Amino acid sequence: MKYYSTNHNSANATLSDAIIKGLAPDKGLYMPEKINVLPERFFADIDKLSFQEIACRVAGAFFGEDIPQNELDRITIDTLNFDAPLIKVAENIYSLELFHGPTLAFKDFGARFMARMLAWSIHQSGDKEHVTVLVATSGDTGSAVANGFLGIDGVDVIVLYPKGKVSEIQEKQFTTLGRNIAALEVDGTFDDCQHLVKSAFMDVELNKKFKLTSANSINVARFLPQAFYYFHAYAQLRRSGVEGDVVVSVPSGNFGNITAGLFGKRMGLPIKRFIAANNRNDIFLQYIRTGVYAPRPSVATMANAMDVGDPSNFARVLALYDNDIARIRADIEAFAYDDAQIAECIARVYKATGYLLEPHGACGYMGLENGLRKNETGIFLETAHPAKFLDRVEPIIGSKVMIPDKLQKFMEGGKQSIEISSDFADFKAFLNDRKR
Ligand SMILES: *Cc1c(COP(=O)(O)O)cnc(C)c1O
Repeated sequence: MKYYSTNHNSANATLSDAIIKGLAPDKGLYMPEKINVLPERFFADIDKLSFQEIACRVAGAFFGEDIPQNELDRITIDTLNFDAPLIKVAENIYSLELFHGPTLAFKDFGARFMARMLAWSIHQSGDKEHVTVLVATSGDTGSAVANGFLGIDGVDVIVLYPKGKVSEIQEKQFTTLGRNIAALEVDGTFDDCQHLVKSAFMDVELNKKFKLTSANSINVARFLPQAFYYFHAYAQLRRSGVEGDVVVSVPSGNFGNITAGLFGKRMGLPIKRFIAANNRNDIFLQYIRTGVYAPRPSVATMANAMDVGDPSNFARVLALYDNDIARIRADIEAFAYDDAQIAECIARVYKATGYLLEPHGACGYMGLENGLRKNETGIFLETAHPAKFLDRVEPIIGSKVMIPDKLQKFMEGGKQSIEISSDFADFKAFLNDRKR
C-alpha cells in the first residue's frame, strides 16, 4: 500500500518510508491511499475475540499488504501486553480505560507499536545506520515514547524537556531508563524544546549525519494502531449484551486519537457518531460551528495534554472527508469545557458513582452528558490514570488518590539527564559529539 501526503506535493511513500520519515517532505501528513473494510463476518463474531485477536485483524487490514502477517502479529501482540477494559460508570455511559500500560496513559499504545514498526522499517531498508528519534515534551509524550522505545535495536531516543517545568514523577519516567534513551534538560520552556527539535530537522548538516525522525501522532505507525481499542470497546459492549447505537466521546488535543476512531468507522466498525471533547482550546468546536478553521495560540488548562492551538491531525480529518464539512458534521459533534466545569464534573461523578475521572476523561464524560440522545449508549475514552494528575484531582475530591505500583517504581530510579541551554548551537554540538 502506498501513502500519500495531505499536501499532495510529495511522491507517494512506502509504509517503511512513511514510518522512517514521519512527516512528508512537503510537510504534509501521510495517509494510506485506501482503507480496507473488514468483512461482516468479523463484526458478527467480534464478541468472541480477544483484544489481541481483534488487534491483529485490524493491523492486518492496515499493514497486511506490506508486512508478513506473522511478523505483524508478533509486533501487535508484543505491543498489547496490557488491556483496555470497558467499565460501566453511569446509566448508558461506559469508560474505556486506556491507562493500563507502562506509563498509565493511552499514548503507550501508539508509542509501543511505533517503536516495533520503526525497528521493522529500519531492518526492511537494509540500512545499518541508527535512527535517532527526537521528542520535545511537556511531560506525557516523552514518558510514553521513552518507555515504548526502550531497548529497541537500531533506534536512539533523545527527549528534550523544560527544566523545572515537568512534575517529578513525569521527569522520572524518562530520565531513569538509560540504555538507548537520553534526556536533555533544557534551560527554557516547552516551546524552546520544540524549537530545538524543529531546527534540528531543518539543519542540512545534521540531516546528512543522522537519520532523524519524530514520534508524535503525525507518524502513521503511532496514530493508526489507536484504532485497535475502538474495536475492542465495541466487542466488550456486545459481550455485555448492550444493544442500540454507540457513540464514542474522545478527549482531543492533536486529534490523533479521534482520527484513529474515524478510520475504524470507515473500516466498518458500527459507531454512529463521535464526539470531540475539547478544553478551552476549542479550535475544532469553532470550526464545526462556523466552518472556518482558525488556529490560535494555546491557553493553559487543567487538561494540559489537550492544550493545542493548531491540532496537527486536522489535515487528516479533512482528507478523510474530502474537505466536506457537512460530512464531518454528520460524523463528529464537538463540545468544549473550561477548568471550572472539569473540576465540577470530577467531583460530581466521584460523589455519585465512586468513579474517579482525571481532567481529560472528564471532558469526554461531559461530551456524552451533553451529546447522548435517546437509545444511544456512550463510551468515553479515559486517556490517563488519575494518579498522573494528583495535584489537580486530590483537592477536587478532598481525599488521597492511590498511586499504582507501576508509577511508584519510577520514583525509585536515579535521574540521569544532561543540562543544556536553549541555544541551537549547544544542541547541535551535543548531537555531533555523539557521533564522534
Ligand atoms: C495526548 C493526550 C490527549 C489528546 O490526544 P490527541 O490524540 O492529541 O487528541 C488526551 N488525553 C491525554 C491524557 C493525553 O496524554
